[in-house]
Amino acid sequence: MPILESDANKEVLVICPKCKKQARIPIPQNIFKEVNKTLATVRIEKNVTCEHEFIIYIDRNFVSRGEMASDYIISPVISTERIELKKDLMSEFDITIIKVNLYPLALCYTLRGLLFGSQVLIIIEDENEFLRQHYNAFISYIFSNSFDISQKFAVETVKNYESNKKKYKEYLIIKNVDILQDKKKFIKSHDLGVERGMANIFYENTSPLESVLLLNNEVQKVALLTNSLLKLFNNGNQLKNLNMSMIIDYLEKTHETKVNIKYCEFLLQIIKYRYQKSIPNLYRGMEFSKFYKLSK
Ligand SMILES: [Zn+2]
Repeated sequence: MPILESDANKEVLVICPKCKKQARIPIPQNIFKEVNKTLATVRIEKNVTCEHEFIIYIDRNFVSRGEMASDYIISPVISTERIELKKDLMSEFDITIIKVNLYPLALCYTLRGLLFGSQVLIIIEDENEFLRQHYNAFISYIFSNSFDISQKFAVETVKNYESNKKKYKEYLIIKNVDILQDKKKFIKSHDLGVERGMANIFYENTSPLESVLLLNNEVQKVALLTNSLLKLFNNGNQLKNLNMSMIIDYLEKTHETKVNIKYCEFLLQIIKYRYQKSIPNLYRGMEFSKFYKLSK
């Protein structure tokens, strides 16, 4: 007996990124008909695989190439002067091209790598060489007025990468939604909740101009808050005497806002990897059950 499978659907094995539960899910065969893409994005609703909602990426062979949690951490509201960005820079890339070709998961990985001070390489197919200029201009635009990423971001075709591998020995390397190299384990050993929040702002916003400005604003916010923390750390404060409650209090007073504990952990990770400063007893004196509730 052949496996009964509807002509319209193909079964795909998916794994929940949170609880690791597996399931076979019918996916419409025609998801690749409309666009000339190598991967398609599908949202798995709650109670399909498990109680979690997530996003999967499927290749043309109907094999799942990656799963991403769809929940995210919202950044604090900060009233900053929005620095006017040069409009001419914006003409160097097409936002629709970015949204169609750069996967949200790949954007999350890129943000994580660059914010953590790593070098990042995105590999594109040889026939998509035109994307290089768009990706370069887009990334330098969203990092303008915040972190210096010159010489830190690169885009190469498969062919160019193959003949220049040595140059990228230390890079975080991304192709589609796959991580080809992550020596410092920036992606594998951390949750990407904050980056998912940033990516969400960019992909869900229907106004192209607004979506780029908001994403740039998110990165500027990260820079502003990490700079505040660096000031605190350099201001004669002994790192060993600080803990998480004190840091959150400080940020909330300085910027008159509420700061999520997970967001604060993310800022401290940036400081740890970018500036080699960390607090030895971060959760000292904090009741764990309370902390657990807060971080949910
Ligand atoms: Zn689950």
